[in-house]
Amino acid sequence: MVELKSDTALAAMREAGRVVGNALAAVQQEAAIGVSLLELDEVARGVLAAAGASSPFLGYRPSFAPVPFPAVICASVNDAVVHGVPDGYRLRDGDLVSIDCGAVLDGWCGDAAVSFTVGTARPEDTALIAAARRALEAGIAAAVVGNRLGDLGYAVGAVARAGRYGMLEGFGGHGIGRRMHEDPHVPNEGRPGRGFPLRPGLVLAIEPMLTAGGRGDYRTDPDGWTLRTTDGSRAAHMEHTVAVTEDGPRILTLP
Ligand code: MG
Ligand code: MG
Repeated sequence: MVELKSDTALAAMREAGRVVGNALAAVQQEAAIGVSLLELDEVARGVLAAAGASSPFLGYRPSFAPVPFPAVICASVNDAVVHGVPDGYRLRDGDLVSIDCGAVLDGWCGDAAVSFTVGTARPEDTALIAAARRALEAGIAAAVVGNRLGDLGYAVGAVARAGRYGMLEGFGGHGIGRRMHEDPHVPNEGRPGRGFPLRPGLVLAIEPMLTAGGRGDYRTDPDGWTLRTTDGSRAAHMEHTVAVTEDGPRILTLP
């Protein structure tokens, strides 16, 4: 069931989203050669704690997961696409890092992700990240009253296709509210004019995941969480929580 949020709820979700935006900004600021993924998780934990927020990631255990998620961020490096579990790995020159973070504040959730490089970037990584950002921006621009989910997915997918990037089949965004994952599923592909109609108060996490390899094939690490490209190509993941309003799309997860 899809729940439309009131203006009061959107204001509360903006505060939860702000914590997420602040946490991601702090993590990106701290990320450097030699810093470990566990240290980045600590940075995010500090931001959430200071804001009085909890983590919807920590202890999260969907049906596919063999163990509860042990951190407040997902940290996916290079060929890891999403759901990377932070560990003692220390960032190296040229790494492509995707950080996903959530927060719960006053019962409302926010969810966002950002990709960036550490040290000297490979030009192809910079281009991949820029494409993922453009795909997210295209999805946000399509999150307007009168459009349908198919329009949004088409907008995201068109950017990926134009760059000959791959996407993970079946993976995409989601509705969000009091729970991190709510209806509807938000595909990163779509047919214009088809699917669920976008209405004021609909809040969606829009999250393109692009792989440099055009096929988008992936496998799961033995940890049961980390999704990695099978061809070893690098991936980028960008996400915002976005409200559909009469005044246009409203990004709720900016710092
Ligand atoms: Mg996320
Ligand atoms: Mg999400």
